[in-house]
Amino acid sequence: MTKEQVLKKYFGYDTFRPLQSDIIDTILSKQDCLVLMPTGGGKSVCFQVPAMVLDGLTLVISPLIALMKDQVQALQANGIPAAFINSTLSGAEQRDIETQCRTGALKLLYVSPEKLLTPNYLDFVKTLNVCLVAIDESHCVSTWGHDFRPEYTQLHILKQAFPNTPMVALTATADRVTRRDILKQLGIPDAKVFISSFDRPNLKLAVSPGRNRLKVIHQFIAQRPKDCGIIYCLSRKNTEEVAEGLRKLGVRAMHYHAGIDAQTRSEVQDSFIKDEIQVIVATIAFGMGIDKSNVRFVVHYSLPSNVESFYQEIGRAGRDGMPSDTLLFYSFADIVTRKEMIDKSELPPEMKEVQLAKLDRMKQYAETEICRRRVLLSYFNEEAQQDCGNCDVCQNPPVKFEATIFAQKALSAVARANEKVAMGMLIDILRGAQNRNVFEHNYHTLKTFGVGKELRYEEWADYITQMLNSGIIDIAYDERHALKLNALSWQVLKGERKVELVKFEPYEVKKAKQEEA
Ligand code: ADP
Ligand code: ZN
Repeated sequence: MTKEQVLKKYFGYDTFRPLQSDIIDTILSKQDCLVLMPTGGGKSVCFQVPAMVLDGLTLVISPLIALMKDQVQALQANGIPAAFINSTLSGAEQRDIETQCRTGALKLLYVSPEKLLTPNYLDFVKTLNVCLVAIDESHCVSTWGHDFRPEYTQLHILKQAFPNTPMVALTATADRVTRRDILKQLGIPDAKVFISSFDRPNLKLAVSPGRNRLKVIHQFIAQRPKDCGIIYCLSRKNTEEVAEGLRKLGVRAMHYHAGIDAQTRSEVQDSFIKDEIQVIVATIAFGMGIDKSNVRFVVHYSLPSNVESFYQEIGRAGRDGMPSDTLLFYSFADIVTRKEMIDKSELPPEMKEVQLAKLDRMKQYAETEICRRRVLLSYFNEEAQQDCGNCDVCQNPPVKFEATIFAQKALSAVARANEKVAMGMLIDILRGAQNRNVFEHNYHTLKTFGVGKELRYEEWADYITQMLNSGIIDIAYDERHALKLNALSWQVLKGERKVELVKFEPYEVKKAKQEEA
C-alpha cells in the first residue's frame, strides 16, 4: 500500500498535514529523522503510517506508561495490530505478546524505556524483524529538556543494535540545545530535522498580576459561560482549594491530580470530555493524551517552571483552531516559590542551574513589554514576522510614566526600616496603615510613615514588583523576603537615576480595553 492509501484506510484522512508527507518519505528511504511538532500537530501519524507501509515491526519507545494503553487501543480500533509491553502487564500477557512479535502478527510494539533496558530484553528485541524505531517524547534524553528521564540516556543502544534501521525521534518541545542533545544521545547525528511552526495564532496570550486570583478567574469564566477550560495549579492542595472556591461561586469545577484514585480520575476526565464539567482545576498531571479539541481556555494559577511546559499546557486549548484564551497569573512571589523548589530539590548543582536559567526565561515571558508571541516563538528559535495583535501587550501596550518620586519614597522607607521589611509591611508603612504589626515595630514613628498614601495597596505592590524586576531594589529570600537596597537603589535615592514604571491598571480595566480592541 502507498502512504496515502494507508492514511485513508486506517486513519480515515484524505491528505497529510504539512511536513507529515516529507517526514514519512524520509523514513521510507531509511533515513533517520528528528520531528519537532507542537502537541496536536500530528506526530503519531509520522511513524504509524510508515509502520503499515514497511515490512516488519515498528518499535515505539514511550515514557508515558499511562498513555500507551490508550494509544494502542486507538490503533487496534482502527484495525492496526499493535500492543504494548510495560511493567503493568503480567508475565503471561508479556509472553503472549512476544509470541505475536515473533510470528510477525504485530505491526507496532510500544515499549517503555525501563522495560527495554531490563537484562535480556534487548537481546529478544534484536531477534525480531524491526523495520523502524520511533522514540516518542524524545526531549526526555536531554538534561536540558524539561522532563529529563535518566533511562532515556541509555537509548543509544538502540542505534547500535539496529544500525541499518531508520530511527525517528519525536518531540513537542525542544529548543536548539535540546535538539542537538537528542541527536547526540540517540546516536543519529545525521538525522534530518523537521520543525513545524510552533505558532498557534488562535491562542490569545495574556498575563495578569497575581492578585485576587480567584476573583479574576471567576470574572474571566463568567465572561465565557459556555466555554470549558483547564486551570493549572502548582500543588494538589491548591487544585482542591481553587475548585472548591469556584464551586462556591457557582462554577461547575472539579479538581484533578495524581493523588486521586484511578477510577475517580477517569470519571472526572470523562465528564470533562463530555462537557459535563466546565472547568478542570489540575496539576500538570492532567492533559497528557487528552484529545479534547474544544478546550476554550487554559489558565495558569501559578507560574510554570519553564517555557516548554507552559507552551505544552496552553497548547491544550483551541486544538480545533478556533479562538481560545490563555491567562497566566504572575507575581514576584511565584518566582520566589519556584526558586525555593529548585533549591530544595535533590538535583545536582548543574541541573539546578539549568532549571534556574529556564525559570528566568519564563519570567521574561511574563514580564515582557513587547509582543508576547514574539517572545514565545523566539524561545523555539522561530521568528515572528510582525507583532501578533492577539496578545495583551499588542492590544494594550504598556503606558510608562516618570515614577522617580514613587521609587524614592519606597526606597527611603526601606532604608529607614533598616532593610528589615518585606513588601507587605513596606506598603503598610508607605500608606500609613494603623495595624498592630506596624505599632509593634514602631514603624509609625518613621519619617516615611504615610508618605505614599496617594497610591492604593495594589498599585504599590505592582510598582514595587516592577522595581524588583528592573533591579533597582533587591530581595533577601533567606531573610523572610526582606527588601534590600543595592547600588542602583542609591543612585535613585541620590537623584542620579530616573525611574520609569508601567502605569498600573486593574485587571477589569485591562480586560475592557482588550475587548474594545
Ligand atoms: P501529537 O502526537 O503531535 O500531539 P497526534 O498524532 O495525536 O498529535 O494528532 C493530533 C490529532 O490530529 C489527532 O486527532 C489526529 O488523528 C489528527 N491528525 C493527524 N494527522 C492528520 C491528518 N493528516 N489529517 C487530519 N487529522 C490528522
Ligand atoms: Zn502580540
